[in-house]
Amino acid sequence: MTDLPLGPSAEAPTHLHLVGGDWVPSGSGRAFESRNPADRRDLVGLFQAGDAADAARAIAAAGEALPAWQATPAPRRGEILYRFGALLAERKEEVARAMTREMGKVLPEARGDVQEGIDIAFLMAGEGRRMFGDTVPSELPDKWAMSVRVPIGVAGIVTPWNFPVAIPCWKMMPALVTGNTVVFKPATDTPYCATLLVRIMEEAGFPPGTVNLVTGSGAEVGDAIVGSADVDVVSFTGSTAVGKRIAEAAGRRLKRLSLELGGKNAIVVLGDADLELAVDGILWSAFGTTGQRCTAASRVIVERSVHDGLVGMLVERARSMRLGSGLDPTTDVGPLINETALEKVASYVEIGRSEGAEVACGGTPVRDGDLAHGSFFAPTILTGVRPMHRVAQEEIFGPVLSVIEVEDYEEAVAAVNGTRYGLSSSIFTRDVNRAFRAMRDFRTGIVYVNAGTIGAETHLPFGGVKETGNGHREAGHAALDTYTEWKAVYVDFSGRLQRAQIDNQPDGADPGQR
Ligand code: NAP
Ligand code: MG
Repeated sequence: MTDLPLGPSAEAPTHLHLVGGDWVPSGSGRAFESRNPADRRDLVGLFQAGDAADAARAIAAAGEALPAWQATPAPRRGEILYRFGALLAERKEEVARAMTREMGKVLPEARGDVQEGIDIAFLMAGEGRRMFGDTVPSELPDKWAMSVRVPIGVAGIVTPWNFPVAIPCWKMMPALVTGNTVVFKPATDTPYCATLLVRIMEEAGFPPGTVNLVTGSGAEVGDAIVGSADVDVVSFTGSTAVGKRIAEAAGRRLKRLSLELGGKNAIVVLGDADLELAVDGILWSAFGTTGQRCTAASRVIVERSVHDGLVGMLVERARSMRLGSGLDPTTDVGPLINETALEKVASYVEIGRSEGAEVACGGTPVRDGDLAHGSFFAPTILTGVRPMHRVAQEEIFGPVLSVIEVEDYEEAVAAVNGTRYGLSSSIFTRDVNRAFRAMRDFRTGIVYVNAGTIGAETHLPFGGVKETGNGHREAGHAALDTYTEWKAVYVDFSGRLQRAQIDNQPDGADPGQR
């Protein structure tokens, strides 16, 4: 991020914050650039470098909008989500192209990212008429017992750049339909996608103040949102390191917090697998989004009997993958998000080498011809990796796949589970018994059988165990739990005092006291 003097640019438009329904500049007087990672000469736009005071204004606006939004019947709120989903569908191509330009993923994947936003909008719109609680029989006569979901308040939404539409929608749609208002801080690398998204939300009819957008750094804006006494729930997706810091700050205020963090996802290939299918699944999972998915497969754990054959097929296919701009339909793999990411990926290849791994293909940045102005790195496969090597333990977040050879299923399970993360895993096998054992044995929030590690659908819970998160889930019904409190309601229509646990006991029983 480069700070620039604020002001109109001849080259690219300047974008503003949305606070309480008005598009306003930051009080900081500073702006930053967003550039195309496939060609850094292409300036996408200038954005407000927000600060803590901007965050405070947005939080106050969200607080002011809260009573009216909570008083709006949930089905009415849901109708606005439907309109948003329909508008996003209409503008899917425009948003997808903007995404590819701003963060690099190939256009078909950018369309998928927008589609996830549409899907969650429609799913959560329906929650406006569901949002089920429990109605249960009371233990006492003439008494009614039920539970209802109530909104928590102002929701702080802090998101990464790798799914710049899907992830904000996964968070904002359930937050809004349940009656919370939102302050949204997108990643510094994708402020344009965020601005487009919020403009479409505004057009869909979310009332002023229900959705507020503040761009700027995590250290200034993110920190201010997380630390604010007036933000009641925070939903964060990003790195485990930042997630832990946020958990400390939120914990000091006993604030509701949902964390979706890093991964080190593995694909197991057993000796009886369909190898052609496994190769398709592995390449898609390892090199899709240039390996920059939280669910990307960065480890392949393969039984000895098929190791050499599988590696041969993977290397041949990986070598033929075309790098380039994601807007070019012949491109298989787009750029990394920025030069810092490229340096990190290159350094991990060196770490792998120093630990004894062999670079079977790739391993270097690519700067030839048209690629000279972008952050391109060749699809890389490391062989001879052992489960405890750093390249098999740490999240690289780039197109680097570590191949680990194992003796049998038991050794494979130990390797799958032997990291601090637990997001996604997969197994390729034709043996139904071993597939079911994997579903039981893999300690991850998501398990795939005969498919790669990516491809979650919005109506099932999404998230991971261990240091991938803190027990919350996105999407599905589970997402509602992040943004609501349960309220239990009892209505006694007997007209007399009835004491629970006491008056319901048969004569002579000792009920104890509650
Ligand atoms: P990141 O550096 O942790 O940043 C994520 C967001 O947090 C950004 O908006 C960032 O702002 C902000 N931030 C940074 N420091 C902060 C602070 N001190 N207080 C509050 N907010 C702060 O992660 P990233 O590099 O953007 O994203 C990649 C990571 O996300 C990977 O680890 C990946 O596995 C994870 N991820 C997880 C999931 C999942 O569902 N489990 C999904 C996608 C990605 P700036 O942009 O200004 O730094
Ligand atoms: Mg950029």
